[in-house]
Amino acid sequence: MPPALDFLLIGQGLAGTLLSYELERAGATFHVIDAGHRGAASAVAAGIVNPITGARFVKSWLIDELLPQLETTYRALERELGIDILHQRSIYRALFTAGEENDWLSRTAQEGWSQHLLPSSDLGDFQAIVQDTHGQGRLAGAQVKVAALIRAYRQRLLDRQQLHEAAFDPQHLELRADGLRYGAFHARQIVFCEGYRGQDNPWFSYLPFQVVKGEVFILEIPDFRSDDILKYRLLMAPQGADHYWLGANYERRPADDQPSARGRTFLEDKLSHMLRVPYREVAHRAAIRPAVADRRPLLGRHPDHPQLVIFNGLGAKGSSLGPYFARQLVDHLLRGQPLHPAADIARHPQK
Ligand SMILES: Cc1cc2nc3c(=O)[nH]c(=O)nc-3n(C[C@H](O)[C@H](O)[C@H](O)COP(=O)(O)OP(=O)(O)OC[C@H]3O[C@@H](n4cnc5c(N)ncnc54)[C@H](O)[C@@H]3O)c2cc1C
Repeated sequence: MPPALDFLLIGQGLAGTLLSYELERAGATFHVIDAGHRGAASAVAAGIVNPITGARFVKSWLIDELLPQLETTYRALERELGIDILHQRSIYRALFTAGEENDWLSRTAQEGWSQHLLPSSDLGDFQAIVQDTHGQGRLAGAQVKVAALIRAYRQRLLDRQQLHEAAFDPQHLELRADGLRYGAFHARQIVFCEGYRGQDNPWFSYLPFQVVKGEVFILEIPDFRSDDILKYRLLMAPQGADHYWLGANYERRPADDQPSARGRTFLEDKLSHMLRVPYREVAHRAAIRPAVADRRPLLGRHPDHPQLVIFNGLGAKGSSLGPYFARQLVDHLLRGQPLHPAADIARHPQK
């Protein structure tokens, strides 16, 4: 029998990809099982990293720690895979009322915010979209090419015979004192990176998943040009060539992960107040964000079965949370380093 793997990973979305990379860096042996579900959040995400969010313009949770790690990880992956992954981009945020404008101005004077807020500048082609506002703020954001990263990393795993393209069936997992068996695989630990499907995982379904569906359009807009991101009625982000990502709605308790008539109506209504240049719909996509009631990631070992581990709950911010928490989970599993208490699943005792 071949020696046991250190880890078996279930899922190769953004979470599984970043975790694989950290395990590879640490010299651990692993194999990934992924079903390639079409509704995976990572396949639909815009990959936007936005340091200031919410109606009250607050700093994204932990953003000053997340940014250096995401820069390190994505730049290293760019070199390893020979592709572009991380793009620094301005994010223009429309301000709709005088109150919003005042709040924004007071942020610009606040200590510790200067690296996130940029001086206001010409809107470029966005000028033709943004109307009836009290101006706009400009942020130092970024965009991660999530789908391209996952595709390239998947090919690397396939080339190295480390990926099995199939659905994992929990009924066939056999827990043993020294680890686990799953079909021909023998591993010390298994890490579930299943995205929203984690809510159906028999060992981790007790965690307070609160998944949220999102629908988006990919549009071709020939008479338009911007490499920046706009937050105005919808988020609008470049996708290369003349293509733009526009989204998204937030639908709680979704019945499925498919594009819907309701999602289309929502997007078309917003669009009718935005674009006054010709465009062509290239795609209408939907996926489900693996969100959690307390909006924090889910990391750690199962309380009763330490060979079962979860890496999930990246919610609507996988591009920024993923690199930091993948590194942290590997430091925890291989070196016994503590997890961030707000991300550790120990905060949700099993009832
Ligand atoms: C519309 C939309 C827009 C978004 N925009 C942004 C954004 O701009 N910025 C940002 O940071 N985040 C964004 N997100 C969130 C981001 O996409 C997620 O945080 C991230 O992709 C989650 O990655 P994941 O790997 O946990 O899950 P997923 O991407 O869902 O991946 C899970 C993987 O596990 C596999 N899998 C699941 N169960 C099994 C099984 N039993 N057997 C085998 N394989 C299995 C699936 O096939 C899939 O490949 C957005 C999400 C949506 C839906």
